[in-house]
Amino acid sequence: MDQHTALFEHILSTHRYVERWSTKLLCLDYSSESPRKLIKMIKAVSGGLLENAEYISANYNEADVAATRLLKGTFDVQNFIASSMKYVQSSDVEQVPWSFIEPLKNTIKKLLGDDVDVLLTPQWEYNYSVYIQDIEKWFKRYVEDVMMIPKYRGNVDDLFVDLDKKFIMISFPSSQRLNPMQLACLSHEVAHLVVDKLYFDKNDTSFEDNYVSQIKSKLDPVYHSVAAKVWKRAVEELMSDYIGVKMWGPASALAMSSMALQYGYNTPKNRKDHGYPPWIYRIGIIKVAMGQVDDIKREIMESKTILNGAKMNKSIDSFIENYSIDIDETAFMEVVHDIFKGYDIEIIKDDSYLENDLSVKTAYSVMYDCLLEAISIFDKYISSNVWNIADVRNNLRYIILSLLNGVPPSSEELKRTSECSAVDLGMLLLSLWIVKITVTSPNVSKQVDNWNRLILWAMDAENIANRYFDTV
Ligand SMILES: [Zn+2]
Repeated sequence: MDQHTALFEHILSTHRYVERWSTKLLCLDYSSESPRKLIKMIKAVSGGLLENAEYISANYNEADVAATRLLKGTFDVQNFIASSMKYVQSSDVEQVPWSFIEPLKNTIKKLLGDDVDVLLTPQWEYNYSVYIQDIEKWFKRYVEDVMMIPKYRGNVDDLFVDLDKKFIMISFPSSQRLNPMQLACLSHEVAHLVVDKLYFDKNDTSFEDNYVSQIKSKLDPVYHSVAAKVWKRAVEELMSDYIGVKMWGPASALAMSSMALQYGYNTPKNRKDHGYPPWIYRIGIIKVAMGQVDDIKREIMESKTILNGAKMNKSIDSFIENYSIDIDETAFMEVVHDIFKGYDIEIIKDDSYLENDLSVKTAYSVMYDCLLEAISIFDKYISSNVWNIADVRNNLRYIILSLLNGVPPSSEELKRTSECSAVDLGMLLLSLWIVKITVTSPNVSKQVDNWNRLILWAMDAENIANRYFDTV
């Protein structure tokens, strides 16, 4: 068998596999249309690449090395794109925290005005990540490189069916699927999109140019490219922390701090982490985003007073009595203080937490000033559109009472008692943290599962209501 025929057969059998799997995957239950859109796109693109292989086989002979390379390239691109089916396969409704999809999309829309499709997909590693590149654009570049059919040359749009919005992928640790408290970390992933748009704007590169040229002026040219990459990575991560906490409030800060625990806050970085900011710096900037920690502590204290004096209905009293619930008034304060005490954004000036590498240390030498500027750019950009505990004060107490009472917070009740916003994601997630940290009882870990479920239920009810009111 000649080389062209062999390669063509590989491409044909991969396409048949894609077709079979598409049919199966289209039958799964998903919480949004995004996975189905991706599957339809993959199938159409795979079909287009098969057409390309037919065209190359028919029009070039085997001795043409360039044609063989193109055929091989077509096969590689087809395999690469087909491999994305694994993300769809693992994003069926049973495997993802689907209640988060709408809030993630809403957060992006609120901040960027962009209507996006989000594919939420689990990963086995205990980590969160985001692919902020639009999947369609990403795939198109590969397909364009190998496409030889004249009607598609320079224009492969017809193959990319159904993708009418920017399409991004966010992954989360699969073990946390039903743990909304920890899933508050997702705000950092969404914030990456804002960071990309706000600070690394291709039309206005002044922010990046200014700091990168300062770094370069201190270094031998041989280190320039690594140092610039380290600087960019650090700004992306640190500002995503800041913006994530600004968007979803203290729940994100607490989730991020809890994530940091597994790495050790103060551990200096090593070569493996090249450029990734040490957690102690991240805690420093998260503290800035938290603003007045005292405001939050005061709210907790007042919630505690309300809970102790609660006479809303009989069941709350009996619930508290039956389960020997004690509200520990200092626990939450201690936790918040332990996390943030002694850590300030100034810690970023201390380079002893960095790996001992000239490029890394020089990249971070401008970081303090750079972050202050980045914060002021974001604060101006977002102005009033950030999470604020004062907006949700009364509702927060109502939610805490609902959780202790074992009933899902009702969005109708929230709207009735609301001063400003109605159901607010940051508020729902913070109430979980407050209850978990401040309630002491022998079987609290069992109750945490119930509280998590109640909050997911409330998020679902709100998502459904929003979708209903959007369409009627
Ligand atoms: Zn990140």
